[in-house]
Amino acid sequence: MNAEAVDEMSVRRERMIAEIEQLVRETRRETGRAALDVRVIAALRKVERHRFLPPGFSAQAYDNRPLAIGAGQTISQPFIVALMTDLLNVAPGDKVLEVGTGSGYQAAVLAEIVRAVFSIEIIEPLGREAALALAAAGYRNVQTRIGDGYTGWPDEAPFDGIIVTAAAPYVPQPLIDQLKNGGRLVIPLGEPQGVQSLFVIDKDVRGTVTRRKVLDVRFVPLTRRPG
Ligand code: SAH
Repeated sequence: MNAEAVDEMSVRRERMIAEIEQLVRETRRETGRAALDVRVIAALRKVERHRFLPPGFSAQAYDNRPLAIGAGQTISQPFIVALMTDLLNVAPGDKVLEVGTGSGYQAAVLAEIVRAVFSIEIIEPLGREAALALAAAGYRNVQTRIGDGYTGWPDEAPFDGIIVTAAAPYVPQPLIDQLKNGGRLVIPLGEPQGVQSLFVIDKDVRGTVTRRKVLDVRFVPLTRRPG
């Protein structure tokens, strides 16, 4: 990409961030967030979303909407990526698990904020492409793996935060188990084609788990075997 195109991308990225901030304000009653954390905004500003899309999609990279990435899967709407990252409430020293690598974009946004990201994708070609895109973009603090994220990543547990980017009918128990005390899980729950809502699930310092419904959303389903 030449210098002019890179500038054009960053102009579009700024516009995307402004739209996201507007949506955050509009949904503050449901989400409890009136504005995004400055670290989340800084991450959105840095990550080049066009790097995580199939070739030829650069023109749409900074539209605030989900896009097809192949294998019937989608890269989430930027607003949802921003909101989920914000809700996860992570800090620079944290270790985070993502279930549903998809394009790798959400993993990159997290990698700008935290120490280490572990991300699992069930569809092998998608996971492979995402790993290449993350490496090409220079993210050394993201590890990816092909597999069923329902069972988490036991060898790397426990995690300060876990983010699931596919909708599950209920919270997978292994993910609760792999969350640190004081940690947080952000996950869309609901039926594959029906109503789904984003939930924030907290495990307090004593290990007691509570949940809060945040916003109605639409995600691809969490599956148990490769599509
Ligand atoms: N976070 C992604 C969004 C991808 S959509 C991004 O930023 O682009 C959700 C992804 O979850 C899809 O790629 C889908 O294949 C994957 N997925 C579905 N069920 C899964 C499972 N059990 N384990 C791991 N990944 C899963």
